[in-house]
Amino acid sequence: NFSLSSQEQAQATVSKGPLALNFNENPLGMPSSAREAIMQHMGEAHLYPDSARQALLKRLASYHCVSQEQLIYGNGSSEVLKFAIDAMASAHCQLVMPKPTFDIVADYAKARGLKVTEVPLTAELQTDIAAMQAAVAAHSGPSIVYLCNPNNPTGLLLPKAPVAQWLAKASPELQFIIDEAYGEYAGSDFQSALPFIQNGQKHTVLTKTFSKAWGMAGLRAGYAIAAPEMIAAMQAQASFDNANLFALYGAAAVLDDSAWLAQARSNNLEAGAIIIATLKQLGLDYLPLNASFIFHRIKGNNEDYRKRMQQAGILVGRTFPGLEGWNRLTLGTPMQMQQVAKEMQRQRLEGLL
Ligand code: PLP
Repeated sequence: NFSLSSQEQAQATVSKGPLALNFNENPLGMPSSAREAIMQHMGEAHLYPDSARQALLKRLASYHCVSQEQLIYGNGSSEVLKFAIDAMASAHCQLVMPKPTFDIVADYAKARGLKVTEVPLTAELQTDIAAMQAAVAAHSGPSIVYLCNPNNPTGLLLPKAPVAQWLAKASPELQFIIDEAYGEYAGSDFQSALPFIQNGQKHTVLTKTFSKAWGMAGLRAGYAIAAPEMIAAMQAQASFDNANLFALYGAAAVLDDSAWLAQARSNNLEAGAIIIATLKQLGLDYLPLNASFIFHRIKGNNEDYRKRMQQAGILVGRTFPGLEGWNRLTLGTPMQMQQVAKEMQRQRLEGLL
């Protein structure tokens, strides 16, 4: 049980507006290791970022036990997701993705003229692998399959065995993009796609970000891991020098800060426990915690709930198509979660929740 008071104070000084629990940003702020590294290199802003990029890629290669040729850096993982779509797209190709999920990939695919096939979640809100496979089988051309693990907005992990069996079938006709933006928060049942790529998978791209557990969403740092040939194809889609020098230094510093991730995870669990206890007390269903947000039932509709929370100075997640009556709540600090819990209890007393 560590105290978060110093981070909470730091946070209070930057966030003067409402409590933003709607974008899955890290409530602990930027790691001090990253901040110090950036300050130390401030005088280099007039230099191009090439050597800092090489240094980060070298560090990431050893961190993930892959070669540097298996890594591509992007201005956030949103950018490497675009490189993946652009590299994989071909004539008559479709993108198959769950609905709902983190859906910017659909926009990237549409911009390339691809057909987008959205596959609703199962009744248990799990990614429907069988139905996605059926969508691939029903299409006459190649498919790109996007899977988000854990999924945003549900926070549910992909089912291990069916996904492993499916990934083993990857080919030029069946390519995969696996988005593990929240993987650092996931529980022990999480199966990363990393070993598949380490073992030579050629048609799967894994994307990762420094925006979530690593606390640097505003700096924009993300990357993908794939086979060298796939990385080269993605690099051909990238713009030149697309890296911000300070994002590179910040990312390299936090990778060496072994205490940070433990602290981010432990804060998340502590914050999650407060909300889970409240949801239990209120008899509101919720999905297991594997990310920096929790997906839970509310009474009534999302828009009214969001407005009531906003009036209380708290911003919560948007409506997800097909999942009316569920709210995605970003986990803040334990103190912030007490504030949310209090407001939920107040709404219950008024018969609103
Ligand atoms: N993937 C998922 C599942 C996300 O939720 C997000 C952002 O919320 C991203 C990717 C993109 O993050 P970034 O571009 O900041 O790396």
